[in-house]
Order: sequence, then C-alpha cells, then structure tokens
Amino acid sequence: MGKRILITGAAGFLGSHLCDRFINEGYHVIGMDNLITGDMRNIEHLFPLSNFEFYHHDVSKFIHVPGELDYILHFASPASPIDYLKIPIQTLKVGALGTHNCLGLARAKNARMLVASTSEIYGDPLVHPQNEEYWGNVNPVGPRGVYDEAKRYMEAITMAYHTFHGVQTRIIRIFNTYGPRMRLNDGRALPAFIGQALRGEDLTVFGDGSQTRSFCYVDDLVEGIYRLLMSDYEKPVNIGNPNEISLKDFAEEVLKLTGSSVKIIYKPLPVDDPKQRRPDITKAQELLGWEPKVGRAEGLKKTYEYFKNLPQEELYKQPK
Ligand code: NAD
Repeated sequence: MGKRILITGAAGFLGSHLCDRFINEGYHVIGMDNLITGDMRNIEHLFPLSNFEFYHHDVSKFIHVPGELDYILHFASPASPIDYLKIPIQTLKVGALGTHNCLGLARAKNARMLVASTSEIYGDPLVHPQNEEYWGNVNPVGPRGVYDEAKRYMEAITMAYHTFHGVQTRIIRIFNTYGPRMRLNDGRALPAFIGQALRGEDLTVFGDGSQTRSFCYVDDLVEGIYRLLMSDYEKPVNIGNPNEISLKDFAEEVLKLTGSSVKIIYKPLPVDDPKQRRPDITKAQELLGWEPKVGRAEGLKKTYEYFKNLPQEELYKQPK
C-alpha cells in the first residue's frame, strides 16, 4: 500500500502545491483545511483522484483521521500580514492549538511531522543574512507578534514533542515564496505589484523602497520541503532564495515584465516591517543538497502568466 500523508492548509497556496507533489510521488494524500484564507479551486483538480481525500476541518479543534498515517505536513495558518492582522486570535490558535493537535495525532499514529515555520521568527533581524543559530528580534506585542510568536511557540512545542515523546519532527523556516495560486490581494509585495500593473494602477512601494526581500519560487520550496521531510535532521532548516533585491528594484522588474507604463509611488512604511531578509542556506545545501534552481526572471514570468489568465473580476476582489 502507498504511504499516507496528511497535509493541513491543503487549499492554500503552499498546501495545494504540496498536495500535487505528493500525489505525483504516488502517496495517498489527505488534505485538511477550514478555508479561512484558502480556496477550493486550488485543489479541485485533485477531487476526481482516488488517492486524494479532503476534510473541511479547523485544525485548532480536535483532529480525527481514520487509518494509518506515515507523514503530517502542518501548513495551516494565515500567512500574510493582511490575513493575520484581521484574524489574530485564529492565527495564535492555529500555531499553538493546531500544532498541538497535529503533534498529538503524529504521536498516536507514529507519523513523522514537518511544521511550516517562517523567516518571521527572526523578526527585524540584527544579523544578516539569517542563519538557523540566530534567535531573532521579535516584538511580541507589535502587530506582527501574533504570527511571529505563534510560529516561535510552534517550533518550541514541536521540539518538545521530539525530545519528550520521541516524535519524529522536522522544522522548516520558509522565507518569502511566490508562484501560481498566491492571492492577488494578500497584501504581499509581489502579488500586490502584479495586481496593480494588471489593473493599470501605480505600483505602491512602502518606505523608500530600499528594504530588501528575497523571493523563492514555489517549486524550489516544495523540493526543499520534500528533502527535509525525508532527511533525519530534526533542528530548524532555512529554505529560501538568498538572491536579495530591494523593493524599489523589484517594482521596476515587475513594470518591465508587464510592459506597464504606470509609475512607482511611495507610502509610509508599516510598523515593524523588516528592513532586510535574506536566508543563509548553508545548512540546506550541506544537509539536503538543496539550493534554488528557478531564477527570478523565470519564476516571475510563470507567476505573471497565472495572474494574467485569472478571470477579470479576480483583479478587483477584496481580501476575504
Ligand atoms: P495560505 O493562506 O495560502 O494557506 C494557508 C491555508 O491554511 C489556507 O488554505 C487556510 O484556509 C488554512 N488554514 C488556516 N487556519 C486553519 C485552521 N485553523 N484549520 C484548517 N485550515 C486552516 O498561506 P500559504 O502562503 O500557503 O502558507 C502556508 C504555510 O506556510 C503557513 O503556515 C505559513 O505560515 C507558512 N509560510 C508561508 C510563507 C510564504 O511565503 N507563503 C513563508 C513562510 C511561512
């Protein structure tokens, strides 16, 4: 019999790509999602398959999955600032209670569990680039604290289940990832710029645009997740693309790609917006033989094609 994997957050951007990958690897995939930020259209192509099941369920509540499980990927969580600022309590709950429930399930089923942590646990970093030994600079009561601290707690309880209950756990710290199935209106820079360009609006850069980001294409991330899951390393591993770009330069790249003649306008920087983010991926390179393969020009083109082909009304849809 094929291996069975539970993927929480299955209807989201990353969760849906993970469902595709594990289906292609021949797994029986059980997707779980409460659709708070996800979209069933991301996984509707999987419904006819006999090796795919979907549970509409809030993972912050008790989870029951019949049968055996070999792996659990815990990806359920609001992920963009626009979402977690609107639903802060659910964000804290899914990082805390949701992770606890998944770990309990992993322990009961003797399954290996990987949790989706984030570069946000480094906060506004005082060390650059960030390696896994850096403990971070997070403001727990700032607006982003609900997400950052939820994920820090998630790492702590995951490590505790490993140490005290012997559960096989993996922790991935994901840096900004992009690709098809992102939401245009999720507030992140990349879809925001593309959405504005497609609507013929000026591109909004917050601050002076000198703050940097590094963007990893989703296929590269999924490969990193797969390799980490199959590895025997239980401490956190950064996965991201170290190729850094300022938001101002990035906005210009988007304008060039879309052929748009709109302008770039500048607005005040939001509170606690990190100034620099770049992963140190030495550990992923050495332990997993992983590094990103898709350059920004190629990834951006694929993502733009996806957004361009969305129905016109999607361009004007307000966040959930
Ligand atoms: P997303 O919003 O597209 O997907 C998250 C999914 O989780 C959604 O489908 C949502 O409905 C579901 N969900 C949220 N709370 C839930 C709950 N209580 N019960 C069941 N389902 C729930 O976001 P994403 O970008 O795909 O992010 C997925 C995961 O990866 C998150 O845990 C996020 O913190 C992490 N991550 C993402 C990035 C990135 O660049 N996209 C970076 C770092 C970490």
